[in-house]
Amino acid sequence: MCNCWIGILHNYDQCDTNNLELDTYVDKLKDISRVSFAMAKTSGRFKAFSPKSYIDKRRGLATLFNFCPWCGAEINWRELRKAL
Ligand SMILES: [Zn+2]
Repeated sequence: MCNCWIGILHNYDQCDTNNLELDTYVDKLKDISRVSFAMAKTSGRFKAFSPKSYIDKRRGLATLFNFCPWCGAEINWRELRKAL
């Protein structure tokens, strides 16, 4: 089974930790959400985002693939959202 590559979080620094993969996206999105809430608390200008916000196409916080570039499987975002 492929551990599908499902998207890339937008971040000024391009590094591997921005990649979203099937087996880690839940923990990763919950972690960055927690950081965003902490930053919002210390800075009035920073907006906090829920884990689901990061994979909301309208917010543009990440590039979300329609298909896994490695195995070609279609990515079911509606299903993936349920885990958050
Ligand atoms: Zn795949």
